[in-house]
Amino acid sequence: MRELDIAGFIPKSVVDWRGKVSSVVFVPGCNFACDYCFSHQLISKPDSLPKIHVSTVLDSLSNRQNNIKAVVISGGEPTLHGHRLIRFLEEVQARGLLTRIETNGSNPFMIRFLIENELLDSVVLDVKAPLYSKRYAETVNKTAVLSKVKRSMYLVMDSGIDYEFRTVVIPGKTSLRDIQSIARSIRGAKRFVLQQFVPFSGTLNPKFESISATSYDQLIEFAQKVIGIQEVRIKTEKGEETINQLSRIHQPR
Ligand code: SF4
Repeated sequence: MRELDIAGFIPKSVVDWRGKVSSVVFVPGCNFACDYCFSHQLISKPDSLPKIHVSTVLDSLSNRQNNIKAVVISGGEPTLHGHRLIRFLEEVQARGLLTRIETNGSNPFMIRFLIENELLDSVVLDVKAPLYSKRYAETVNKTAVLSKVKRSMYLVMDSGIDYEFRTVVIPGKTSLRDIQSIARSIRGAKRFVLQQFVPFSGTLNPKFESISATSYDQLIEFAQKVIGIQEVRIKTEKGEETINQLSRIHQPR
């Protein structure tokens, strides 16, 4: 059986899973095409990237270099990798490490399988836009995906495992109303993380390269105005910070 395609590997990270020293694995390919995506080589030119053998990654994990406790599988979209992803997660767990995937939520069947078979300790689900079909389709440049994303959201909320929802705040594109609308849709959720947009050369839509980074003040302002979530965090290149915890969860909308 073919092994998991791996297009990037960070042996040690302290910012990809708060509180856990992790290795990060990047898989190629995605079924969305978000304008702001900075994984553009992973998405549109995966063959141009050097391939990293699974055995190289597993050897690094087996050696427990750098005091690694967990593995984060990001992308690209991990759930597109089916059986190869399952096999890889089993190998990671066999080494006594915790597992997390970062997903766009488009594959609820796979997410259900991974949760039911106890292959995941944590899920990060990107919520790209307020949950309206047209808006979502425009953001991810793909139609008819919202019902699947919603199913994935409800699945992880009911799963009992660690999870968080993440939204990238893009200056001039993501409004406070958008963030509050998403928060209403995930009311009661364990964690909602507002992530800083950082312009990279090579976003999928080149126009997004000239947008400035989300300011720290804007992230804080938005996070402080979110209600109904157990914990609200902001995430910048430097790490994560809790802004709002259980404080206003019972306020009326
Ligand atoms: S879902 Fe993620 S990896 Fe896929 S295009 Fe959007 S930002 Fe890029």
